[in-house]
Amino acid sequence: MRIATITNFAYIATVVLTLSSGIALFMASNAERAEREAIAHSRVFDALSDELEKEAFALTDLVRDAVIKQRPEDIQAWRQKLQQDIKLEDQLIRLRDRKATTEEVLILRDGIKMLDTLEDEQQAAIAAVEAGNAREAVELVFGQQYEEQLDQAEYRFNHFRSLTDQRTDKAVAEATALSQKLRTLSEIMVGLTALLFLFVLGFIIKHRILRPVVTLSDVVNRLASQDYAVETPVLAQVDEIGDMAQAIHIFRENGLARQRLEQERDAEWACRTLLARMSQRLQGCDSHSAIIRVVSRFAPQIIPEMGGRLYILDTQKNRMKCSARWLLPPGDETTFPPESCWALKRGQLHCPSRDTVDMPCEHLPPEIAIRAICVPLIAQNKTIGLLTFDNAAEKEPPYAYLELMAETIALALANQMLRDTLTEKATHDPLTGLRNRHNLDETLRALVEQAMANNSCLSCLMLDIDYFKKLNDNYGHEAGDKVLREVARILQETAGENGIAFRYGGEEFLIILPDTTEAAARTLAEQLLRNVLAHRIFYESQDLGQVSVSIGLATWPQHARATNLIRAADLALYMAKEQGRGQIVIARNVGTPSL
Ligand code: GH3
Ligand code: MG
Ligand code: MG
Repeated sequence: MRIATITNFAYIATVVLTLSSGIALFMASNAERAEREAIAHSRVFDALSDELEKEAFALTDLVRDAVIKQRPEDIQAWRQKLQQDIKLEDQLIRLRDRKATTEEVLILRDGIKMLDTLEDEQQAAIAAVEAGNAREAVELVFGQQYEEQLDQAEYRFNHFRSLTDQRTDKAVAEATALSQKLRTLSEIMVGLTALLFLFVLGFIIKHRILRPVVTLSDVVNRLASQDYAVETPVLAQVDEIGDMAQAIHIFRENGLARQRLEQERDAEWACRTLLARMSQRLQGCDSHSAIIRVVSRFAPQIIPEMGGRLYILDTQKNRMKCSARWLLPPGDETTFPPESCWALKRGQLHCPSRDTVDMPCEHLPPEIAIRAICVPLIAQNKTIGLLTFDNAAEKEPPYAYLELMAETIALALANQMLRDTLTEKATHDPLTGLRNRHNLDETLRALVEQAMANNSCLSCLMLDIDYFKKLNDNYGHEAGDKVLREVARILQETAGENGIAFRYGGEEFLIILPDTTEAAARTLAEQLLRNVLAHRIFYESQDLGQVSVSIGLATWPQHARATNLIRAADLALYMAKEQGRGQIVIARNVGTPSL
């Protein structure tokens, strides 16, 4: 039951009890008033009847004096007294209005009638005196009959007083008892009201003061220990405790907001730190794959709430190719043209859900595209790749950090591409695409060490195009370049993945064959001779004729030490030239053409 209902009930009960108590008190007061009235009436009856009785005796004395002394002044005095007595009788007889009972009035009338009879006898005696018949007058007022009538009158008045006294005593007793009862009832009601008041007061103190104060105290303690998860009680009461609850609620809200801000600031700081660390690690990368590993490691830490992918543009095929993914983003990883991405077309972050109406990208399934975020990787005004994020939670993402991340990755990829290009230029021959001599010694040393470790062998083919100068002279330098490119391609294709082909210089080539015996190398060399001879080269629709190569073969460890293996192959090549060109010479067989 609600406190308001209880207090309302208590209020109504208190009002009813107080009113009842008041009514009881009023009734008790009425009873007392009736008691006082009864006493007052009784006193009036007693006084008048008493006075009338005395007057009757006084009148008797006066008439007796007048009869004995027979003086006119005594007769006059008797007459005056008689007039007074008559008035008194009238007064007494009218007292019926003062609630005298019928019996009392009858007795009173009877007494007054007795007095009237006595007065008649007195008048007869006075008349006898005035007529000179004193004897008769004396007999009338001193006779036996007169005395008996006087006693009878006295008896009537005494009886009347006795009755009125009895009635008054009874009325007083009843009124007193009723008054006492009503007063007791009133006191009980006042007591009940007080009890009810105390109960309601206790109830209200418990429920409206103690309980809220204890709850609020607990909340304040938890808030003091920065436990903002505590729920503040909602108190609708309009008083100091209600104000206190409101203030604590506001304090908690402020604390929560501050905590949220601190968490956001911490998250932002963590995000910045991770971005800075990723940037440092990217700077330390020396390969494309290392960059991808760094991105795969940091991206899910920087933006932990969104899965994503890193796409890199394959410039030759003009397709975006997925290179990395994190946090299991939905959708497949097929390549797609850059034109199907709005971020790549516009050169800026694209998020269709950011604005009211926008175009979803076509490279993603429609249900994902609508919530996806695409960030282009652009460096030096060139599109390098793309970051895609699946904003499944559809929360406001940190756009600035997404862009910063994309910028950092794009810069790292661009730098790596530049480094790759420079390295390519430094280590590869621009005309043929084969490796140049730049790190031949280093590569050879590493392969020999590997062969030593594996207890294996390693072969080396030194090749030179025959009569190349003549070809240049006949068809021009450009045609010579084409021959160089074609021969290089045939060498690379024939050597396969195992063979490492170099342009050694001019029209000379070198092929290192790891883990290849002399016999296997020779077989390959023969294949090379045949392939080059078989290939017809045209320049501007002009047949450049058959091209042949001479090959010197040397195998480690049979023919030379590691340090002079190339020298041994070169010597063998020299011998091949000497012996007529278009042939293979094996280092140990110097002087003996193999073909
Ligand atoms: P041999 O059969 O003895 O090897 O005779 P050859 O003419 O092939 O050898 P020679 O050393 O006399 O001539 C090599 C020529 O290769 C000289 C040079 O002009 C030419 N040459 C070197 N580098 C290039 C190049 O990059 N492009 C073209 N077109 N010619 C080149
Ligand atoms: Mg040559
Ligand atoms: Mg040469």
